[in-house]
Amino acid sequence: LYDVSIVGAGPVGNYLAYRLARLGYEVAVFEAKEAIGSQVCCTGIISRECHDLFSPSSNVVLREARSAKFIVPSGRYLRLAKNTVQAYIIDRAAFDIALAKRAQETGARYFLQSKVTDALREREGWQVEVSSAGQRQTLNSGALVIACGFGSSLPQQLGRGKIGNFLAGAQTEVNTGLDEVEIYFDQELAPGGFAWLVPTSMGRGLAGVICRHNARLCLEGLLSRFTAEDKVNSGEFDIRQGAIPLGTLPRTYAERLLVVGEAAGQVKPTTGGGIYFGLLCAEIAADNLHQGFASGDLSSSRLARYQKEWQARIGYELRLDYWAHKIYSKVTQGQIEHLFEAIRSSKIHEQFLNWEDFSFDYHGELIFRALRQPRLLAGIITPRLLFSSLGVPALVQLALRRNGKRANTTSAKERVS
Ligand SMILES: Cc1cc2nc3c(=O)[nH]c(=O)nc-3n(C[C@H](O)[C@H](O)[C@H](O)COP(=O)(O)OP(=O)(O)OC[C@H]3O[C@@H](n4cnc5c(N)ncnc54)[C@H](O)[C@@H]3O)c2cc1C
Repeated sequence: LYDVSIVGAGPVGNYLAYRLARLGYEVAVFEAKEAIGSQVCCTGIISRECHDLFSPSSNVVLREARSAKFIVPSGRYLRLAKNTVQAYIIDRAAFDIALAKRAQETGARYFLQSKVTDALREREGWQVEVSSAGQRQTLNSGALVIACGFGSSLPQQLGRGKIGNFLAGAQTEVNTGLDEVEIYFDQELAPGGFAWLVPTSMGRGLAGVICRHNARLCLEGLLSRFTAEDKVNSGEFDIRQGAIPLGTLPRTYAERLLVVGEAAGQVKPTTGGGIYFGLLCAEIAADNLHQGFASGDLSSSRLARYQKEWQARIGYELRLDYWAHKIYSKVTQGQIEHLFEAIRSSKIHEQFLNWEDFSFDYHGELIFRALRQPRLLAGIITPRLLFSSLGVPALVQLALRRNGKRANTTSAKERVS
């Protein structure tokens, strides 16, 4: 009998396993794949704050990023640079492995090649059904955490609902001489999303897209362009695909049950970044489970606090990001060029970079400040858009929520320490 069963050994499940094991709980982690970190589809870009708070080792860092180029369809670009490290590009597989190793060394028990197929409520917890190498077994635990990423039917099976909307993603490793992150905003290359070429280690990099659909096809188009431009060496590409949830689960808790990370939709819709927010929510999940066990109350109403807390922390950001994503997905190539020209000529990007509260992770302030720049808006926010459900009504709602939420963007260090 375990105190907590965790489904999924991604960053969120591994971090949560470590936190709970350190608090003295008996933790079991079930991972469907045969090895942790295998077949991950992630660029591994995390903020400095995320790295400082959560990275289990500096050995997982492939490169520091101080600058990036943002490229529009005409090929023109803006280069944003700071003297200090803005982000780290991590080896995502090594990150997951190091997090899992630390959890194991702290006492968590791992079951690989073990797919959780169902879970049944019992009086004092959950009976977890696991399929392992063709064998079916059951294990019991006092609480269950679903950290299985996006796309599993488990949250729905357990009555937590389903996130129906998502962006498709595809990525491959490439040989490239590139030395700086490049992000492409181009509705033909990546409809409704963006594309990237990110240098990782010596002569290697990651090329990828997130877009509305057909991510593989979009990536193939991108690779043809990169090889024609000599940015990437031609060859066989091992393309991996993933998805980014848009929106969150309506209820991420039930009696003795929490849903955390990408499975809950704790991912930024603008960038697809889910590592940092997922880990912040894992922290909140660990605290709530600990308090629930300590008080002998793991009821649904007690665990509702988990959802309240994570929503207070990142809910507003996620809503605002989703709104910005929806606006961006309607923008034409011409409007992207217009926006680019407005930013370039007014040098607004330089002001943005110099804001004291400029944050790699929280875009709410950036979006609101951008909305106050008439030159950025002209030509993008058409009268039709302005008065649609995405326009004035949504903005008024978001603005009303804004003030109370600004305090939530204070350093995560306070919470974690
Ligand atoms: C192309 C692409 C690029 C990305 N780049 C970035 C980036 O640069 N930075 C960033 O922050 N985020 C990025 N993301 C998002 C990031 O990868 C995810 O948000 C993050 O992996 C979520 O972590 P998680 O632990 O919640 O889920 P996951 O990492 O998906 O881990 C879930 C684990 O659960 C396992 N599992 C699933 N179902 C079961 C089951 N029934 N039983 C047992 N095990 C199960 C899976 O095998 C998996 O190992 C990217 C995503 C994509 C698609």
